[in-house]
Amino acid sequence: MNVKKQYAVIGLGRFGGSICRTLSEQGMEVLAIDIDEDRVNEFASIASYAVVGDATDENVLKSLGIRNFDHVIVAIGDNIQASILTTLILKELGVQHITVKATNDYHEKVLQKIGADQIVHPERDMGERIANNLLSSNVLDY
Ligand code: ATP
Repeated sequence: MNVKKQYAVIGLGRFGGSICRTLSEQGMEVLAIDIDEDRVNEFASIASYAVVGDATDENVLKSLGIRNFDHVIVAIGDNIQASILTTLILKELGVQHITVKATNDYHEKVLQKIGADQIVHPERDMGERIANNLLSSNVLDY
């Protein structure tokens, strides 16, 4: 039996929004969460469920049954404190797999300590990919 994976995306900025949109387009079940009502409204017709909520509030995450999701993506970028606290709560609640967007090296260090399963730096990672693409197309130019 092919059981659909369930994802939750916390923070619907450019990064989280793009993850939410892509997973939804691929037919995945996605719960979209943001503290900003306008952002949530934007995703109401895209995600399976879209809710307004503060992810740093343990009771909000508990009431959404976040523990039952296979994979949670924390895409709160600028508010490092909220990102760390949210990740900590998700770990404590026993979420299986957590991906977090890091804003800088200090942020990453703390996320590692807390036990985030995957830490991404979208701008840095994309810069590396593009540089490598440039290098490989240069090789072909010779
Ligand atoms: P990006 O770089 O991905 O475009 P952004 O600059 O649009 O991000 P950020 O400030 O990084 O926005 O935050 C991403 C989203 O996280 C925002 O939509 C913001 O409302 C949301 N957010 C911030 N704090 C919380 C929180 N405590 N709970 C839920 N969502 C939050």
